[in-house]
Order: sequence, then structure tokens, then C-alpha cells
Amino acid sequence: MRWLSFVLLFCLSPILATAQQQQQVEKHVAITVDDLPEHGALPAGVTRTDIAKSMLATFKAKGVPEVYGFVNAKKIGSDEDKSASLKVWVDAGFPLANHTYSHIDLTTHSAEEFDGEIAENEAFLQALMGTRDWHWFRYPYLHEGDTLEKRHAVRKYLQEHQYQVAQVTLDFEDYAWNSPYARCMAKQDTEAIAWLKSSYLSTAAEYISLGQKMAGQIYGRDIKHVLLLHIGAFDSVMLPELLNLLTKQGFHFVTLEEAQKDPAYLSDPDTPFQDGGTLLDQLAKARHLKYPPATEKPMKKLAEICR
Ligand SMILES: [Zn+2]
Repeated sequence: MRWLSFVLLFCLSPILATAQQQQQVEKHVAITVDDLPEHGALPAGVTRTDIAKSMLATFKAKGVPEVYGFVNAKKIGSDEDKSASLKVWVDAGFPLANHTYSHIDLTTHSAEEFDGEIAENEAFLQALMGTRDWHWFRYPYLHEGDTLEKRHAVRKYLQEHQYQVAQVTLDFEDYAWNSPYARCMAKQDTEAIAWLKSSYLSTAAEYISLGQKMAGQIYGRDIKHVLLLHIGAFDSVMLPELLNLLTKQGFHFVTLEEAQKDPAYLSDPDTPFQDGGTLLDQLAKARHLKYPPATEKPMKKLAEICR
């Protein structure tokens, strides 16, 4: 019967190889949104609630589950529009979590001040979320401590208060396009807006690919990723195309909790950094790895455009 096993092996091996390849190329990403209720300038006629509603509708249409919105409650003030935008998020069935009260920078403040701001945000989260869990924490500026003492002190505080750190592995500094968009809309500069769109998508593609390459360097495999976005007018305009880009690249959308079940998230760089960065940035820097080459982000042009 050797011929039979040969035939079976011959016929099945391409099928098995394809199945294995598919398993290998299966990609997962959780989408997270920072700086609720506002990031960047508003174009005329657009409200904060419009932006939240637009992003939520896109997430629902594209099947993105349970997108966490990380809140800085100080920004709400007495603004009814901002307050309503947060309610819209929760009413859509999506959760909110902690990003500190005022978006405090751990590099320029003490651990005690920082912990105080985590606590100050909680009454707002509790009021908005009711019985639902909001114990996820995203570090503002991805700054996790410029000294080991600060880094350890805040991590200990978060642990004692039942928080999980919401890590980031994919970041293309999407926020940098929001205010330029409002300026270019005011000038009705269609050529500049077309450039904003193309550069936003090309930068996203470049840095999503960079994150995957860095995961390969660090873990020897791709991991389940967490993408950082911000709540802004241009982010809401670009969200459908950005999600299409991810889908075309083979990504499946998962929850933050699901992504962070990947054992990759057990890694702790345990190193102080002035300027922080994603989990992958921190691990690469801590291990003195060489960054894969990438085109620089167009920050200078973004700062100057439509002035
Ligand atoms: Zn932020």
C-alpha cells in the first residue's frame, strides 16, 4: 500500500501547506481611540458628537468589535456637545476607559501627580459606564516613565487599582492630520485635502507594515496588534478607507482584550524612556535593535499646510 500513501501525501500536501500558510498569515488587530471627547480643531459646521457618531457608524459597518475610547474628562468642562459625544459612544455599546483627567505627561510630572489624575478621571467613567468595566488604562503620549522608580510606581498603582495597561503596537501618529484638515477645509483647498488623504493612507500603510516587521524582529512571528487612533474630524473622514486598508492586508478585527491575550503582551521592557513609544518601540530600544527602514512621516508639511 505504499503507492496509496504516496498518492495521498502527494495530493494532500499542497492542501496542508496552503492551510498552514493561511494560519501563518492570519492577522489580528484591535482598534483603540484616544483623547475622547476631542482631538484637534473642528471644521466649520462639524460637532464633536458628529465625529463620534461617524466613527461609531463606520466601526459598526465594518464589523469592528468593542472599540475602547480613552477619556480625558477635563476636556468635557461644561460643553454639552463634548458630553453628548461620550454618551453616544456608550449608548452604541462601546466602552470608555482611563487616559488620565487632563492628559498629563509622566515625563514632566511625578508618579504621585500622575496617579492623582488617574483617580480624578474615575468619577466621570463611573457615571458614564455604570455597571460596565472601565478598568483599562492608556498612558498619555505613550510615556510610561522617564525613571525606573516612576515607571514601577505607576505600574504598581495601576495593578493595585485593577487596571490593565492598554498597549499599542501600531501607531502612525494619525492625530497630526486633524488640525491641518480643519485649516484646509476653511480655505476650501481641495488640492491640499487630496494630499492630506493620500499622505494619511500611505503613512498608515508604511507604519502598519513597520509594526509587523518589528514584531517579527522581536518575537520571531507576527503578533495580535493594537492600533492607536484619535478622535478627530479627519480621523472620522478617513476611517472607512483606513479599515479597508487593514482588511485588504488580511487583518481581522478583534477586541482589545482578545488582542492582549497574545503572550507577546507579557513582555515588559522595564526600561525608563524620556519619549516612550509603542510596546514594540520600547522593546526594540531596550534591546538596541536596528529599526527596519521606513519613510519619515510628513510632519513638517502637515505643520505648514493651509496656513
Ligand atoms: Zn492621548
